[in-house]
Amino acid sequence: MVAESDETRNANAPAVTVVGAGLAGCEAAWQLARLGCGVRLFEMRPAVETGAHRTAGPAELVCSNSFKGRDISGSHGALKAEGRLLGSLLLHLAEECAVPAGAALAVDRERFSRAVERTLTDEPLIELIRREVTTFPDAPAILAAGPLLSPALAGELRSELGSRRLFFHDATAPVVTRESLDESCLFAAGRHGRDGDYLNVGLSREDYAAFIEVLRNAPRAPVAGIEEDLSDGDYAVFEGCLPLEVLAGRSPEAPRFGPLRPVGLRNPATGESYHAVLQLRAEDAAGERWGLVGCQTRLTPPAQRDLFRRLPGLERAEFVRYGRMHRNGYLDGPRLLRPTLELRGRPGVFVAGQLSGAEGYTEAVVTGLLAGVSLARRLIGLSPLTPPRESLLGALTRTLAGEGLAPGTAAGPVSANFGLTPPLNVKVRGRRHRRRARALRGLAACRAFNHRLRSTPLPHPGANP
Ligand SMILES: Cc1cc2nc3c(=O)[nH]c(=O)nc-3n(C[C@H](O)[C@H](O)[C@H](O)COP(=O)(O)OP(=O)(O)OC[C@H]3O[C@@H](n4cnc5c(N)ncnc54)[C@H](O)[C@@H]3O)c2cc1C
Repeated sequence: MVAESDETRNANAPAVTVVGAGLAGCEAAWQLARLGCGVRLFEMRPAVETGAHRTAGPAELVCSNSFKGRDISGSHGALKAEGRLLGSLLLHLAEECAVPAGAALAVDRERFSRAVERTLTDEPLIELIRREVTTFPDAPAILAAGPLLSPALAGELRSELGSRRLFFHDATAPVVTRESLDESCLFAAGRHGRDGDYLNVGLSREDYAAFIEVLRNAPRAPVAGIEEDLSDGDYAVFEGCLPLEVLAGRSPEAPRFGPLRPVGLRNPATGESYHAVLQLRAEDAAGERWGLVGCQTRLTPPAQRDLFRRLPGLERAEFVRYGRMHRNGYLDGPRLLRPTLELRGRPGVFVAGQLSGAEGYTEAVVTGLLAGVSLARRLIGLSPLTPPRESLLGALTRTLAGEGLAPGTAAGPVSANFGLTPPLNVKVRGRRHRRRARALRGLAACRAFNHRLRSTPLPHPGANP
């Protein structure tokens, strides 16, 4: 990576405060620096912990190691393509740190975090400061403190923005060591024979019924804040990523149509298919740690051990991480945010990542990118630009800002999804073809947006890292 030359440095602009060196904050800091702005990037870990992060490293992935699919017919593949087109650093580094995961972009999380840290600390315009921010920052600033922002900052935002913060609950999935697995009981395969990057546990009807019975009755760990939320009716889980026990509680069959679905998975050695399949995906390049895909849970650690060790091949599984539930906070976007991610009442202060209500790793990266580029424009007296509504990025930020929502409705948490984009005005047959057509339309709109950014006097908007 090269630093900006003195000519391109936005020398008169004050240094930007970025709160939180997570996915959004790191991407925002990089974009600002690429555009010649000095950045003070604050990170509270390791002095103050979040409860979900395990390291002091920037851009730590707190749960799954996957940025989801690469195929642009899927909303996350399309969103990544838009992010790459706009010059995302983190998506570029994610490709460099990828581990085999079939059609998904999964990374070695430690390598990825180290690569981000190295790149940012090699950039002279960025100063990474290990300190908790407890007061509302003056403009120019980006709030990217994530869903697990520190209580002191949360209180400050509530009093400064005069807004009730909103909450939902999200859980992580357990990770086990490969050497503790009995691989003679597992089979390597990908769905529909596309790749063999996953290890699979095939379950018979009886195995599945016994597993679900234990799952539904297992003890759950207490979660800070959950009772308080229940009392004011605010308790909610994120529907896009339900804990396994919540799913099974709704219907014993639900996991079989969700994370444990057997469709397209056969044991290549025997040709056998199963009633349900639990998949494991490599967590690191060496393939020593494997995550239980879709098994996010708030069961107590002993209950998780008891439950998953009932599965064939996992009888002696050693857990390097247990699933855990967390209370996630985000701001009331429709009341507070513009679709450029700038706070309505605070020119020059932007919000990115999950604090804005955007749920997901890729969403955090691209909202960080937009906030960084938009703030750089503000600093030289240009208006921030709203990305086109045909693009997933534009559709996402417009939804976060309340576009198309009934007044008083909360937007978040929102993930990228083609349903947020306007309908196609041509008839396309087949769901996959329609999604691809929406993706291509979004990419074309994004290309034009990037061109508009580039045709301004900013040094390098959209330059590839
Ligand atoms: C438990 C859990 C599991 C999740 N699992 C997934 C998943 O599997 N897949 C997925 O796509 N998304 C997942 N998400 C959703 C979400 O997209 C990620 O949390 C994502 O990392 C959000 O990115 P971010 O940059 O907004 O926040 P983060 O990546 O959390 O970064 C915020 C940073 O700000 C720091 N910080 C907080 N307060 C302060 C302060 N006062 N001063 C200084 N620094 C501060 C934090 O330490 C942190 O480093 C999960 C979320 C949670 C909470």
